[in-house]
Amino acid sequence: MTWKKAVLQALTRLAKRHSSRIVTRQKILEEELDQIISDTQTDGRTPGQTLNRILQDLRDEGMLSFLDNKGTYGLLFLGNPDPVDIARDYNPPPRDPATIHRIRRDTRIVAQLKQQYEYRCQVCGHRVELKDGYYCEAHHLRPLGQPHNGPDVPENIIIVCPNHHVQLDYGALKLNLNELLYLEHALNQSFIDYHNNEVCS
Ligand SMILES: [Zn+2]
Repeated sequence: MTWKKAVLQALTRLAKRHSSRIVTRQKILEEELDQIISDTQTDGRTPGQTLNRILQDLRDEGMLSFLDNKGTYGLLFLGNPDPVDIARDYNPPPRDPATIHRIRRDTRIVAQLKQQYEYRCQVCGHRVELKDGYYCEAHHLRPLGQPHNGPDVPENIIIVCPNHHVQLDYGALKLNLNELLYLEHALNQSFIDYHNNEVCS
């Protein structure tokens, strides 16, 4: 039997045995090298090197992909790889530890306001439809965090769609109480002024 055929058969056995289209060089050596040597009736002096050459040939022919440079191979000749198999063998991105200071918000105020506006944007009236309801966001005119230190009260909160929320956060949209499409709760003019003069400046 040729080396190529023997290696392909070995890879197929490995994939079945481990229920995965991802195989490693280590597993080939541990579980299949003896069989490959037997199948090819090679003298077995440098089978590792021959194996490397065959694996590279298979890659060049599009039957294998090298998933890293440490001997992890994806088998392409078995048909479409299972996306779950592939995903399982990739490492997640590295993480850095972090400490955050989260502002304690009164979620009831926001929930009540969202209901009051039926999840519609006070600026444009749009509401985002989800599979089991609607979605909108609450924006604090004078932001809660440093350096603004705005209060978490209804007079400082406007209900908006995600697009207008981004524009407000980045100071790209000045507000005029008379131009809001919906205004059913009292907004404090000083917070509007703060948004227009400080956030939008
Ligand atoms: Zn909007």
